[in-house]
Amino acid sequence: MAEKIDSLQEKLRALEAVFIQKLPSKIAEITQTLQQIVERPDNKDAMVVMHRHLHTMAGSAGTFGFAEIGNQARAFEAILKPHLEGAPWTNEELQAYSQEVNSYFDYALKYDTKPVNGVADSVQEEEKDVGTPQLIYLVDQDEAQNQEITVQLEHFGYEVVRMNHLGTLATAVARRRPHVIVIELSFPEGKVAGAEEIGRIKQIERFRIPTVFVSHSNSFDSRLLAVRSSGDGYFTKPVDVVALTERIEAILQNHEDQGFRVLIIDDDAVTSKFYGAVLRDAGMNVYLLNDPTQILTVMTDFRPEIVLMDVYMPVCSGVELSRIIRQDNSYVDVPIVFLSSESDMSKQLDAVKAGADDFITKPVSPEYLKSSISSRAERYRSLRALIMRDGLTGLYNHTAIKEQLASEISQAGRNGAPLALAMIDLDNFKMINDTYGHPAGDQVLRTLARLLRQRLRRSDIVGRYGGEEFAVIFPDTTASVAARVLDQVRVAFAKIQQHSEGGGHFAVSFSGGVADLEASLDADELFDVADAAMYASKQKGRNCISQA
Ligand code: GH3
Ligand code: MG
Ligand code: MG
Repeated sequence: MAEKIDSLQEKLRALEAVFIQKLPSKIAEITQTLQQIVERPDNKDAMVVMHRHLHTMAGSAGTFGFAEIGNQARAFEAILKPHLEGAPWTNEELQAYSQEVNSYFDYALKYDTKPVNGVADSVQEEEKDVGTPQLIYLVDQDEAQNQEITVQLEHFGYEVVRMNHLGTLATAVARRRPHVIVIELSFPEGKVAGAEEIGRIKQIERFRIPTVFVSHSNSFDSRLLAVRSSGDGYFTKPVDVVALTERIEAILQNHEDQGFRVLIIDDDAVTSKFYGAVLRDAGMNVYLLNDPTQILTVMTDFRPEIVLMDVYMPVCSGVELSRIIRQDNSYVDVPIVFLSSESDMSKQLDAVKAGADDFITKPVSPEYLKSSISSRAERYRSLRALIMRDGLTGLYNHTAIKEQLASEISQAGRNGAPLALAMIDLDNFKMINDTYGHPAGDQVLRTLARLLRQRLRRSDIVGRYGGEEFAVIFPDTTASVAARVLDQVRVAFAKIQQHSEGGGHFAVSFSGGVADLEASLDADELFDVADAAMYASKQKGRNCISQA
């Protein structure tokens, strides 16, 4: 993990290097534009350009640690401003201004620039590795319970390591970091309890490991102890294994999905890379857009959960760009935050009217940037989840999965990529409900939802299409590959032991149909084709997958 921090610092250094490298040419742009103003003091265009250069300089210099240049640029910008808005220059004013600007930047160049050899291209998106099973440490002496929890978690593809001694936990963590620890709160071993041991490990480990406590006690004190030990869950014994699995699932989902999709729009590539590096380091998924005219394509393809944009850009202003975004119904609620060195209140009001949610004034500290972006993105994500998610399974609901399919179809069309759609329907589910009760049926639906999310790729999109019907979108995949993958899920699902309230055990199967996206099919038609394939599976006797 220390490597990660070093590499951020390296990236920041590389970006600083690029800033310094480009400083002379940026200063030259400023002084040349200034010369045009001196030659023709009513040259409005030149003043607009000058203002933009100074503004960018003020923001980026501060960001890269050249506070003095930043402040000075901001001061020059402030003097220019009334003239930009129409106040004529007097001769003396312009002379003094020109001299001050030229001599300051002369000085800045000599003072601040040293030869550097950094490259900005070191800032590249790193691929997260997925696919290895997630590791869970289970620390308790109750063997029977451990056994039951282990079996259930393994069904969902987790790797479980059981420990009977508290003493082995710290060494095990040091050797292999688990994704989650499940531990008895007041583990009786010597004078140390589970909660204290977690506290001790927390101090050694640089990054927190999510922890779920299990306990015999249901007292307030025990729960408080768990909270103070930064517990992510609390289960009283006998542990409801299904609920525990769901909690672990939710924790890991959060951790995996932490990557909020952040779109940064700034015509200044160096500044946007800097903010990008900071946010990526916080685990976010960042798309840098330097050309505002591409906005609509990027909104559909990347689906940002927050947009961070510069107020000043050459093609159009940030205010105009946010109006363009808000014109589309799908994006009326995506948060838009302006990154600006603009301290002028009336400009900010314009932006607020255009639908901006917040302002972050440059230069901004990495910590502040991370926290303000993630808190807004998080709120957006949970609001979206309420609107788009099915309450029982947490999957996309009927409306949302249809929307997703429409958007995936248009993307596949643009990229000439394949796309497959699967429909899934539980077998004889009415009978399951009648025999084992509706709550047991609900549990089956949740189990299938979890298994689908667990076993499919992160890019596959899973939804609950109707009561006991599910739909899966497989982008970049042909139906024959999707059918093979879905068949593996089918086999795993049919093996899972389901529990009824009365203590009975049973298994449930499903039938599936998979269809390729053929040219000119729309979302509804593709659903129909996949549905027909699913019915073919029912005809064949259920518990199988058919391809259209
Ligand atoms: P087939 O194999 O042909 O699909 O038979 P089936 O019994 O699954 O099909 P049918 O369409 O006759 O019954 C679907 C059942 O799914 C009926 C309904 O009670 C049940 N169901 C639908 N939504 C829910 C739900 O949210 N919870 C529970 N427990 N059951 C549901
Ligand atoms: Mg049905
Ligand atoms: Mg059915």
